[in-house]
Amino acid sequence: MARSCSRADKRSASAGVDSVDAPAAQAYPLYSLSSGHAFEQSIYRKFHPLQERRPPLAIVASKRDNFLMNSKERYARQTILPEVGEAGQERLARARVLVVGAGALGTPALYYLAAAGVGSIGIADDDVLELSNLHRQILYRSGDIGRSKADAATERLVEFNPDIHAEAHRLRVTADNAVALFRGYDIVLDATDRLATKFLINDACAKAERPLVHAAILGFEARVAVFDARRGPCLRCLFPAPPDTPTLTCAEAGVIGAVPGMAGSLQALEAIKWVLAAGARTAALQGLLGRLWLMDGRRLETRVVELPRDPVCPICRHDPVDIALPREAPPVRQVAPDELDHYGDALLLDVREEEEWNAGHLEGAVHCPLSHLMEGAPQLPERERYIAYCAHGIRSETAARLLGEAGYRNVFSLAGGIAAVRGDAGKPARTPE
Ligand SMILES: [Zn+2]
Repeated sequence: MARSCSRADKRSASAGVDSVDAPAAQAYPLYSLSSGHAFEQSIYRKFHPLQERRPPLAIVASKRDNFLMNSKERYARQTILPEVGEAGQERLARARVLVVGAGALGTPALYYLAAAGVGSIGIADDDVLELSNLHRQILYRSGDIGRSKADAATERLVEFNPDIHAEAHRLRVTADNAVALFRGYDIVLDATDRLATKFLINDACAKAERPLVHAAILGFEARVAVFDARRGPCLRCLFPAPPDTPTLTCAEAGVIGAVPGMAGSLQALEAIKWVLAAGARTAALQGLLGRLWLMDGRRLETRVVELPRDPVCPICRHDPVDIALPREAPPVRQVAPDELDHYGDALLLDVREEEEWNAGHLEGAVHCPLSHLMEGAPQLPERERYIAYCAHGIRSETAARLLGEAGYRNVFSLAGGIAAVRGDAGKPARTPE
């Protein structure tokens, strides 16, 4: 059974009371409420006799000894766990973990991986930080707005734990780069928010023969699973293909930051357990390999379900060399808010839903909600160009794609959506605040 830090401390404290002088023992509750430093050190010495023989910090000659001593203290609360120990800590130090997506799921996962002393952490993300990310992407500060997330996260992690090496991969994972990137790591965490990317990461992990800690969140709900196509089910055993209908992301549907906080932390835990058990499913460390953790934060209901392997799975029944990675549709052409003046002849299409439209919209726009578009493209006034827009530029990409498939040419998406226009004081917008 897992123990929390506080329980472990209390157990150590009660076990060691007879070795501690009476005043310190009596003062324990007070110490535990303040720093507890002197008392904890005496307990630590009791259970770690080697520490007694170590010379004081001031006369340590070697920088490496100094580093090792500091590291020992840094991880003391986890190395006392029988499931970790010194050997487990060394395995963590040698581990290479890649986190794809440094957003709501990735940032808590990265924090806990770095805190646990995972020696080599890769961060793959091509995005830059926006103000609206900060309520859930806890690794960043307000001063990071506009910076590359991969760069800012790398800097923050090394500052947080100088023991580790962190590497920024400022790229979007694609069919062309995923396998080579994944092979540079022992395990991959999918912390992305696009469904098509999740399927690509699943397939690329199977091809690269790397385990995958999958997670997905929306609103109050989260799910986490561990897939290893070499010996268990993969994402496509659960869902053979992404749905045909567009799916919402957190930017579209909203999310409470604590929900990805839980799921991202669980991803870090699963990766740590994987490293500690060297991928084995032991009685002591039974991970989520082939199992799916589901959580509904509205009523805090959680359950774990076993995932069977699909004998006709389009991915994991194949030899890795035969796996062909999916290629995303060509990107929708974007129009930046400050370019709108150059598109004066274009028809603006507001693809948000009725409530959002009624609360305010761009002048001259036609209401064309995505939910209607998904049932069939409407007859639009004939124009040379169309610009679809939504709240943040996600639904409008789907709308532009659907209209393109329905035969409309030159359908663009407004980058950043109406929120980006609202930030531009020069635009004639009637929008909600
Ligand atoms: Zn499969």
